[in-house]
Amino acid sequence: MKNYRIITFGCQMNEHDAEKMRGMLEQMGYSETGDMEEADLLLINTCCVRETAENKVYGLLGRLRKLKEKKPGLIIGVGGCMTQVEETARHIKRRYPYVNLVFGTGGLHRLPELIAGAAGSRETVLDHCRPEGVFEGIPAKRESGLKAWVPVIYGCDNFCTYCIVPRVRGRERSRRPGDIIREIKELAEKGYKEVTLLGQNVNSYGRDLGENYGFADLLRDADRIEGIERIRFMTSHPRDFTDRLISAIKDTAKVCEHFHIPVQSGSNRILKAMNRGYSREYYLDLIEKIRKEIPGAAITSDIMVGFPGETWEDFLDTMDLVERVRYDAAFTFVYNRRRGTPAERMPGQVPEEEKTRRIEALIKRQNEISLEKNVEEAGKVHQVLIEGVSRTNRDLAGGRTRTNKMVFLPGRGEDAGKTVYVKIVGGSLTHLEGEELNGVKCPCV
Ligand code: SF4
Repeated sequence: MKNYRIITFGCQMNEHDAEKMRGMLEQMGYSETGDMEEADLLLINTCCVRETAENKVYGLLGRLRKLKEKKPGLIIGVGGCMTQVEETARHIKRRYPYVNLVFGTGGLHRLPELIAGAAGSRETVLDHCRPEGVFEGIPAKRESGLKAWVPVIYGCDNFCTYCIVPRVRGRERSRRPGDIIREIKELAEKGYKEVTLLGQNVNSYGRDLGENYGFADLLRDADRIEGIERIRFMTSHPRDFTDRLISAIKDTAKVCEHFHIPVQSGSNRILKAMNRGYSREYYLDLIEKIRKEIPGAAITSDIMVGFPGETWEDFLDTMDLVERVRYDAAFTFVYNRRRGTPAERMPGQVPEEEKTRRIEALIKRQNEISLEKNVEEAGKVHQVLIEGVSRTNRDLAGGRTRTNKMVFLPGRGEDAGKTVYVKIVGGSLTHLEGEELNGVKCPCV
């Protein structure tokens, strides 16, 4: 029996790719180990969206030299978004010759074949096929037995000027509705309670199929699947968050009231330079519409500071938008130059110390708002899907509200999978605290 270990960086799409890698490796007879020293096969699933993620991969590859010297039979593979960029793949082959296999996102479905090739080769195997098509039937070994990611669309056609995703994930390709619904039904039969429909831009689902069947239709069909209690989705492009989609969310019982709608900037000038395709006024109207139609909805976002040409006034526009929207939470980050993107060559690159000053101010204010919003939850009642026991206190169970807030309440690990009503008694920056309302049954179970 041979062992494998996968180390994953990046987003949910990468996490799900790792689940597919696990599925394929276990079909090949490998079993998973948490100990790198025990592994016969080590796969690094990379991300190239930010420089920090890339630097972590290079650091890890440097440290692996010793392990490879100790265990020459170890197969090291590097895959994912970073190695879909040909220059990066060639650099890894040159700089870290003890790596056996370098492959991109386009080669994922051929992983068993690539590993077999690398095992029989003295040289680093470099695979460079473009991410095209949709491959069904790849087995996935999921971490949780309760919540599952289900990709619905691959790639992106948006070409935001700072983003490398369209280059490494290819053009938009939707899965066929029948394949998605079949997968969700199978998950329901296995006892899964929650699915998150995944894509770089789920809102453009179906456009390439030419069947007049879009994301709103998919949500309505998924909502009818028995056994599934909750449906989430990410990520949404604000421009494609249509009235039709809002109506579908309103009409469906299982689609949860949490929407991740990345704004990136609050300045119209910067949004234009980013090629985001909407204005701050459009975005604010959209949030107002969602809050009116779906009361109590939680809204989260991605916000970037330090895009080329961003002035202090542009940054203040972002701070003002944050103040108006009052996000429940936000992923905040500084702009990083990404090779091969239009923004890389734009004038007005913002000095690092100025980016730091802006991000610190943004994080401070967003944290205050997140805390205020969580404190305001006290006294409210939420439906919570228990996921397991708290890592720090075995007498507490943890689960999420439909609005995707973590709640801890007295309970045990055996409660995992139960959906209960909880009265919130307190809130901190990262989570809520609650008490189960005994005897109150959830209508959906
Ligand atoms: S929508 Fe823009 S930021 Fe998101 S993946 Fe596509 S190009 Fe990148």
